[in-house]
Amino acid sequence: MSRIVTVNNQAIAEAAEIIKSGGLVGMPTETVYGLAGNARDGAAVAKIYEAKGRPAFNPLIVHVPSAAAAAEIAEMDDRARNLASAFWPGPLTLVLARRADAGISELATAGLDTVAVRVPDHKIARALITAAGVPLVAPSANKSGSLSPTTPSHVADGLGDGANMILADGACRVGLESTVVDLSGDVPFILRPGAITAEEVSRVLGVDVALASENDVNPKSPGMLLKHYAPDAPVRLNAIDLEAGEALLAFGSIKFMGVKGGGAAADLPETQIRNLSEDGDLHEAAANLFAMLKDLDRAEHSKIAVMTVPENGLGVAINDRLRRAAQAG
Ligand code: AMP
Ligand code: MG
Repeated sequence: MSRIVTVNNQAIAEAAEIIKSGGLVGMPTETVYGLAGNARDGAAVAKIYEAKGRPAFNPLIVHVPSAAAAAEIAEMDDRARNLASAFWPGPLTLVLARRADAGISELATAGLDTVAVRVPDHKIARALITAAGVPLVAPSANKSGSLSPTTPSHVADGLGDGANMILADGACRVGLESTVVDLSGDVPFILRPGAITAEEVSRVLGVDVALASENDVNPKSPGMLLKHYAPDAPVRLNAIDLEAGEALLAFGSIKFMGVKGGGAAADLPETQIRNLSEDGDLHEAAANLFAMLKDLDRAEHSKIAVMTVPENGLGVAINDRLRRAAQAG
């Protein structure tokens, strides 16, 4: 069971060290308790998915201390600045174009070129973000499919030892998830209703902002609700050898993998091969998944052939994304 710790300066310093060394901290925010990890550290982000038992990788919200810090990872336009000054710190998340130099793990944003950012309105969350000195991803600290936790004991009961430490505060003030507003296109949409209403958002933006639903996809921007990166190149799963012209997304040893017509996979040029994890480590594979798919997604590759990833632990979520990519092609 994770340690529940009463918050003082020493506890914040210890929690910040845990974050900096790749661990996870149960963190109170004004919405719900989050399971926080370093947004720049792919292996830490992989641990979050594992602790939550998420069967799929969805993009996570990046928590920052200020609008200025948000502007270092996302493109803040006038609409974003207006919403930020109206509602930050507070339960509003903005989906914005991701800056090229954002330095956020590709797993945290599920390989998308957008990023969701929020400035929480909670003393302890802010103290931890500041002490850790890095942006934090912090999805609700519960197993996937269970209720979001609003007390420290919910977190401990739900996650077992999934967090290295839980910072205890009372019940969360809002108790409801943040409202997610998509500002990545010309027309703003609410992707998830939450603590701040559509009317409040509409008033600040001066336009009616509607709730986006899977059925009511804006014909002008198909794929608007795309929740993860999918390659353009066709994807072939469970590859045991390679056709000429295919790129290889490997998992584990490729010593015995051949290329049809002659040659060994190990001798492929650097642009044509990536290994999710030479040691077969699923955390490392998860952290590498989206970045490596992007690297191999080039027009000159007839397909991306993917070696088998075991269907256990994080492998379930990795395979979910790979299967969707294979179907899309
Ligand atoms: P959670 O972190 O579990 O509270 O939930 C994050 C929410 O934000 C989910 O509904 C995600 O789908 C949404 N989200 C996060 N990042 C993005 C993004 N880049 N594009 C669209 N939705 C996002
Ligand atoms: Mg949740």
